Amino acid sequence: MLSVQKNVSLKKLNTLNFESTAEYFCSVSSKKELSEALTWAQEKNLPIIVLGKGSNVLIAADMQGLVVHIAIMGIELFSQNEENLVVSVGAGEDWHQLVLKTLKMGWFGLENLSLIPGSVGAAPIQNIGAYGIELSDRFDSLEVVDKTTGQYKKMSIEDCQFGYRDSLFKRPGQDKYIIVSVNLRLSLKPNISIEYPALKNSLMRLHTQLQMKHGQSFEECLTPKMISDIVCSIRRSKLPDPLNIPNIGSFFKNPIVTSENLLSLRKLYPDIVSYNFCDENMKISAGYLIEKAGWKGYEKDGVGVDHRQALVLVNLGGNAEDILSLAHEIQTSIFEKFSIQLEIEPRIYR
Ligand SMILES: Cc1cc2nc3c(=O)[nH]c(=O)nc-3n(C[C@H](O)[C@H](O)[C@H](O)COP(=O)(O)OP(=O)(O)OC[C@H]3O[C@@H](n4cnc5c(N)ncnc54)[C@H](O)[C@@H]3O)c2cc1C
Repeated sequence: MLSVQKNVSLKKLNTLNFESTAEYFCSVSSKKELSEALTWAQEKNLPIIVLGKGSNVLIAADMQGLVVHIAIMGIELFSQNEENLVVSVGAGEDWHQLVLKTLKMGWFGLENLSLIPGSVGAAPIQNIGAYGIELSDRFDSLEVVDKTTGQYKKMSIEDCQFGYRDSLFKRPGQDKYIIVSVNLRLSLKPNISIEYPALKNSLMRLHTQLQMKHGQSFEECLTPKMISDIVCSIRRSKLPDPLNIPNIGSFFKNPIVTSENLLSLRKLYPDIVSYNFCDENMKISAGYLIEKAGWKGYEKDGVGVDHRQALVLVNLGGNAEDILSLAHEIQTSIFEKFSIQLEIEPRIYR
């Protein structure tokens, strides 16, 4: 049954650990409870704000209205043929636990996305991605409820309009949709993707330790579980754990530039880190730019730039406005040095 509480602290529900109070708060574990929450808020004419695990939000004010925490669970096999399967997952499931469970079942494809914090329902919002794979590469469809009408509907990959850390759900007015479940298309046969440079380099170091059978290639020796373990160990060595140092992962998106722009930048910064994007465009490492501009390890007013990964801003005892003002200082400095405008990745509530 739906239980709505008043004046609830959100400190433990955002991984930056900023203090904020929800005017009203409820956690919903079924579609029925979610529908009840929508009706409850509609009757009182209150806005609804959806929260998963709070690992990609910057909450800079108290939340007026009803904050709905999505806790709809369940992992079910939806369909299967000889090679592939579709698994239907409740929006409240933990993303990394899902990755581990699918690997255990022999359902492959999510290994590169290991250890990304957050809920399954939030994964399509910014089309989570890491180590050369994005959610959209494994996506089949999802189910949403429209919070303005209370109607449920299925959406296809085309409907979701996925892009780099982007989807329909991030466009103005489209946060009217609440995701209740996500269907992922996985493989029964390992289909390993190791082209991403940081992953490839770590794997190459393993090369000598692997017992390769006669005629077997290096790739054939690798298992999805090995990829998952390596991704986890790279991530643990590079990124601060929000439980120890509150953060929300990458604070900025990697900027996209034309190949021509990249060439001119490379003349000044020969070691600039870039990745292929699409058409004539390239993605530049925002972490490289921030580090090059001297921000790595910087601390001020209880907030700072992580000392291992310059793309991650950390809360060392400050507040949301301090971190936003640091972010703006970084944006200005990157624009002055490289003529590149950094875009903030997480959703800001103020
Ligand atoms: C240490 C660290 C590392 C990270 N690494 C990566 C990475 O490698 N790649 C990557 O892409 N991201 C990364 N992130 C960001 C984050 O993990 C993802 O964006 C994740 O999907 C957020 O999930 P969440 O449940 O915490 O979402 P929340 O922070 O709770 O919500 C994020 C947004 O989604 C909306 N939302 C949440 N659930 C729903 C729903 N069911 N329906 C509709 N809207 C919803 C919220 O309203 C909010 O606008 C990292 C974060 C951290 C802290």
